Amino acid sequence: MPSAVTGFPYLNANTLMSSNYALFDTRLAARRFVSPSMLRITLAGESLRGVGATGLDQRVKVLPGHDAVVCDRLLASEEGWYQAWLAEPDESRPWMRTYTFSGIRPDRGEVDIDVAMEHGHPHGPGAEFALRAELGSRTLLVGPVAGTEGHETAGVAWLPDYAVLAHVLIVADETALPAARAILADLPPAVRGTAIIEVPERGDVADLPRPTGVDLVWCPRDEGGDALRHLPFPVDASESIELSDDVLWAEAEPGGWLGWVAGESHWVARIRKGAKAAGVPRHNMSFMGYWRRGVGAP
Ligand SMILES: Cc1cc2nc3c(=O)[nH]c(=O)nc-3n(C[C@H](O)[C@H](O)[C@H](O)COP(=O)(O)OP(=O)(O)OC[C@H]3O[C@@H](n4cnc5c(N)ncnc54)[C@H](O)[C@@H]3O)c2cc1C
Repeated sequence: MPSAVTGFPYLNANTLMSSNYALFDTRLAARRFVSPSMLRITLAGESLRGVGATGLDQRVKVLPGHDAVVCDRLLASEEGWYQAWLAEPDESRPWMRTYTFSGIRPDRGEVDIDVAMEHGHPHGPGAEFALRAELGSRTLLVGPVAGTEGHETAGVAWLPDYAVLAHVLIVADETALPAARAILADLPPAVRGTAIIEVPERGDVADLPRPTGVDLVWCPRDEGGDALRHLPFPVDASESIELSDDVLWAEAEPGGWLGWVAGESHWVARIRKGAKAAGVPRHNMSFMGYWRRGVGAP
């Protein structure tokens, strides 16, 4: 059971405690592979009729598992679910994993999440739940609450000013593909730029709706695809890289040119280093380490 809750910037306590994010009581309603490496799960529950539907790269949390007593205790907590989650003993505190909605149907009380399944990846509790939990298993979800102040932007890093946005660079691995897909689909038609997406294999490649001026470069690893070779600035892939929280989470300021990079932490940190060396202004690009190879999320 997890004991540390700090050290990863995306576990931002302010977001988790804010009143526009809440716990939803759900059940695993369906699972199907949408490509060889992407398993789509559907969570369903009456309370999801109240989930906020921003989409984009808005982050949500799944507390995989279904210990009914703990679920009920967290849902009933008066001091707020996050405080209650922290107060749980290590042995019973549910894991918490971060995802992006790939589908939101509040009218039916359903959301979809696409869980990346790299072959051979030592599955953690998030992937295990997606892959093996029995249909009908109870799980808690932390997500935005429709109608609350600020829920549309809480947990969203992609906050452009579409009145001035002209050019984008989107770089994602498979864990950030759901967010990249939603961002590309949301872009105004006149935006130009490039999306570079690295996935485990050729079968994961799909067309992504986007403006005609945005080129899409797929990099399937099983064919030697490597996103780092397609960036508009050089990146040294061989150099060892020091990870620290401040290189793993930086959000851009809205402007005419925006870069958005999310994926494995070392990969993101390398891209950030390359961008910095090439003189790309810091405020033009978001960099987000979505996971860390060899280390489970806290
Ligand atoms: C804002 C945000 C949004 C995210 N959205 C999504 C999303 O929509 N879909 C999605 O699949 N992931 C998404 N992620 C990434 C996801 O949270 C991590 O991959 C998480 O580590 C998965 O938890 P786990 O319990 O499966 O594995 P963990 O217990 O965290 O890790 C166990 C082991 O598996 C490795 N591992 C974890 N993930 C992967 C992977 N994808 N491939 C290979 N090895 C891995 C770890 O390095 C570790 O060695 C997102 C992360 C963030 C921060």
